[in-house]
Amino acid sequence: AHIFPSAWTGINERTFLAIKPDGHQRRLVGEIIRRFERKGYHLVAMKMIQASEELLKKHYIELRDRPFYERLVKYMGSGPVVAMVWQGLDVVKTARMMLGETNPADSLPGTIRGDFGVDISRNIIHGSDSRESAQREITLWFQPHEIVCWQDNAEKWINE
Ligand code: GDP
Ligand code: MG
Repeated sequence: AHIFPSAWTGINERTFLAIKPDGHQRRLVGEIIRRFERKGYHLVAMKMIQASEELLKKHYIELRDRPFYERLVKYMGSGPVVAMVWQGLDVVKTARMMLGETNPADSLPGTIRGDFGVDISRNIIHGSDSRESAQREITLWFQPHEIVCWQDNAEKWINE
């Protein structure tokens, strides 16, 4: 049965993650997906795309006045991005913890940026910073029919 959550809260909370072109080129796609799968999160959408400048400018609209904005948009469009929607309890905040800090130099070992990155402008992965951003970003990157709602038979072993 397909269960469409009425609200993105509790165990139905969703976040948007995108493996950036450097993460893709460095063959980190499997490693990153593996971390979220083993954590217990539930993957509901995924696609590899070459993002347009228009999409990337909208995605990073809040940073439009920052000096690195143009370079950031160019780099994000320089190769494939693996865009995903993950679901689960506190997934927005927990995914950000699993990513590490914006600057890999400030990210602890054990985090994705701490384990695999060096440079702030090549930090491997994007993750929504709030539930509101997640909703905006998921709507921007995915059509409703691309979100797959599936029965998770491990769910009762992950959430009480
Ligand atoms: P995030 O939410 O941790 O990804 O960080 P932000 O939303 O603040 O910035 C978006 C992205 O812009 C980051 O992931 C970096 O790739 C890049 N970025 C942020 N700050 C800087 C900076 O000071 N210099 C450069 N070159 N890139 C930055
Ligand atoms: Mg951000």
